[in-house]
Amino acid sequence: MKLSHRITHLTDGGSDGWDVFYRARRMIAEGHAVTELTIGEHDIRTDATILAEMDRSARDGHTGYAMVPGTDLLRDTVAARVQNRTGVATTRHNVLITPGGQSALFAAHTAVCDPGDVGLYLDPYYATYPGTIRGAGAIAKAVQTRAEDAFQPRADMIEPLVEGAVSLLINTPNNPTGVVYSRETLNEIADLCQRRDLWLISDEVYDTQVWEGEHLSPRALPGMAERTLVVGSMSKSHAMTGSRCGWIVGPEEVVQHLINLATHTTYGVPGFIQDAASYALTAGDGLEEEVAAPFRRRRSLAMQVLGGQNTVGLVPAQGAMYLMLDIRATGMSGEAFANALLDTHAIAVMPGESFGTAAAGHIRVAMTIDDDRFAAALQTVCNFASELAGQHAAE
Ligand code: PMP
Repeated sequence: MKLSHRITHLTDGGSDGWDVFYRARRMIAEGHAVTELTIGEHDIRTDATILAEMDRSARDGHTGYAMVPGTDLLRDTVAARVQNRTGVATTRHNVLITPGGQSALFAAHTAVCDPGDVGLYLDPYYATYPGTIRGAGAIAKAVQTRAEDAFQPRADMIEPLVEGAVSLLINTPNNPTGVVYSRETLNEIADLCQRRDLWLISDEVYDTQVWEGEHLSPRALPGMAERTLVVGSMSKSHAMTGSRCGWIVGPEEVVQHLINLATHTTYGVPGFIQDAASYALTAGDGLEEEVAAPFRRRRSLAMQVLGGQNTVGLVPAQGAMYLMLDIRATGMSGEAFANALLDTHAIAVMPGESFGTAAAGHIRVAMTIDDDRFAAALQTVCNFASELAGQHAAE
């Protein structure tokens, strides 16, 4: 039977760069001890008080269909949080609750892209971006950023690709680079979106994980509230990856259409999950600080380890739960280095090439294991890189 072009071409068929990840998975399944630094999964679980609220809500009967746009309580809570943090007037009518940030990304592109329209995104990119844009029927086009600019995008890199484009997807704090976009970068992007009439889809799921500088939501820039769709999530801020609870914040008219889309796709998010999310978002900053703290600590440890050598470069680690390490001094690709590291030291990291082409010669390290093992693994990475760089220089 024939399948749709859209679904069979969602991911372009390529698994390049993910081979290391799957090989590590197989080794673990076979009983090998592998230090897993590949994906962005917390090493702590959802806080017990959040689970207690989930349980209370479910026992109180919130197990039926919930309101499709989200409960009034959670929509109001998200609106108040966004308004507090950005100063932009926001009500529940600007908010759609979604099953995680991923489905919000899909819905946002579906809302603004017609088949054949171009959806722009920036390379290096979070793995699902091109498939999400294609899934919404659009043509996914990557804009290269450069390691030399610490992967901060510039308008003059985006501008030549704008022809036919209706949207630009950005992500700050950034996965995979750990970079936080500067005010200057965001101003340039905002100006570009207004000049070239682009929707800005702003993925801000790491907004509570900023180690240096500050998180700026581009929706707060002049003239941007009417053309920005912000994607948020409970996954990273509150270690609720499995709860599948996120949102889109945008203009009321768009949210009205998105509610209609949700009625015909997800049909909402479980009420007991939404109650738990409302609790978590109003319980004070303590809960999210507890979730962010391990990454903040490990980032400091990483700066110490990396400060003691000069083979491995560190892309400015300003936010999110990852470090992007430049291993070009070894003369190897990120993929070759990651494979060799897995073979010789049983440490699994993601090759930069898993995230496009801009981060070739880099590896991404997730800061998701306990501090001592993390620091030791990073030291091993540095020692290994230094050996390989020595051999490379002698060649
Ligand atoms: N955006 C980025 C940049 C991510 O890294 C992730 C998850 N790793 C998501 C969106 C989606 O997260 P979720 O669906 O769990 O909210």
